[in-house]
Order: sequence, then structure tokens, then C-alpha cells
Amino acid sequence: MTRPLALFGGTFDPVHVGHLRVAWEAAEALDADVRLVPANVPPHRPQPVASAAQRLALLERALAGQSRLVADDRELRRDGPSWTIDTLLDLRAELGAAQPLVLLVGADAWAGLPTWRRWRELFEVAHLGVLTRAGQRAVESDELAHEAAPRRVADARALHAAPAGHVVDIAVSALDVSATRIRAELTAGREPRWLVAEALLADPALLAPYRTSGA
Ligand code: ATP
Repeated sequence: MTRPLALFGGTFDPVHVGHLRVAWEAAEALDADVRLVPANVPPHRPQPVASAAQRLALLERALAGQSRLVADDRELRRDGPSWTIDTLLDLRAELGAAQPLVLLVGADAWAGLPTWRRWRELFEVAHLGVLTRAGQRAVESDELAHEAAPRRVADARALHAAPAGHVVDIAVSALDVSATRIRAELTAGREPRWLVAEALLADPALLAPYRTSGA
């Protein structure tokens, strides 16, 4: 049995302690390493304030000093929209057929999964780890429930025994922090201390894109 590799995507505009803590808790729950994958052109979202290179630099700085969570820039190296199925297939080609791969999604993203491109194929390439914050319950449409029910396992360790195909809920902390709030604090001239990794405050250039923008 091989340890799983988990993938956690986001805009990370900028990365904050909510992202880091959730990725860390998923790593612990799954006994996995986690790749944090910044999106190039998120299909369902407005464009980020910071450039791809700036967001990647923030992520790499925030992750310095440990090896369990790693920044992965594969979506930034691709032109056009970052379809999750393509990212997973890319990673699968790299890892080989046997290693368990886990796509981590928030409960809200999980509920919207049937709108994703080639969504049913996601289960063929990876397991799905649904990050569930206390008090939050994903509402599943009939088609999602139908697809997920036979795949659901209660124990995250079951994901070690197969490369793909299971669905597991992963309970994570509900930290009241968002990138929107951090951008607002920076635009207002305040310092988001304790909401982002300390290292991001040490170098004024890193968060500069948000201080000068109107976001
Ligand atoms: P924005 O405020 O710009 O919408 P965000 O803070 O939600 O951004 P994203 O990069 O869009 O950050 O989020 C990436 C992933 O991290 C999503 O799955 C999202 O649900 C999750 N996430 C964001 N903030 C938190 C948090 N405080 N706790 C747990 N998960 C979070």
C-alpha cells in the first residue's frame, strides 16, 4: 500500500491560515502529502488580484520550513482554463496507476460537482475528499448522491487500498478567514497578522499587489 497524494486547488489570492490549516488537517486525516495547486484562470470565478507568479511566490513562502504540503504550479504552466480533470490526469500520468490520489474539495464545491467538466471521470482518476467544516452539511443533488453513495467510505484510511473511486468526508476546522477579508484589510492599510503565515509579512513585496489594488 502506498501513501496517497492529495490535491488541494484554489485561487490562493492570497493563501491564508484557513487554507493551510485545512490542507494540514487533510494530510493528517489521510496520512498523505498534499499538493496545493493555484488555479490559472478559475472557470467559475472572477480574475485574481495578484498575478499567477505572485500567488505562487506567496504560497511557496507560506509553505517554507515543512515538507508535507507542497506548492504545485502545473495549472500555471498551462494556457487557458484549469480544468480539474486535466490536472488530475496530468498528475496520474506522473504517479503511475497504483498510487492513491485524492482530490480535496470544500463542501460547497462538492455540492456543485455535477457542473464540473467530465465530472464522473474524476472518480476514475482520484478519490474525493470532502472537506466538511463543523456545522456545514453539503446538499447533494440526486445525481451526485447516486454517484457518491456506493463510493462512500467512513474511514479515510480505506483510501490507501485503492488508487481512486472512493468518497470520504474529512472533518476540518471552521476558521473564520477568507482571502476576501485579507485583501480588504490590506487595501485599508491594515496588517493581516495571524491570518496569513508570518513569513508573508516579513517581506513587504509579497503582499504589495493587494495594498495597491482596489480589491
Ligand atoms: P475568496 O475570499 O477570494 O473567495 P477563499 O479564501 O475562499 O477566497 P480560495 O482560494 O477560493 O480562498 O479557496 C480555496 C479552497 O480553500 C476552497 O475549497 C475553499 O472552500 C477553501 N477555504 C477557503 N477558506 C477557508 C477556510 N477559512 N477554512 C477552510 N477552507 C477554506
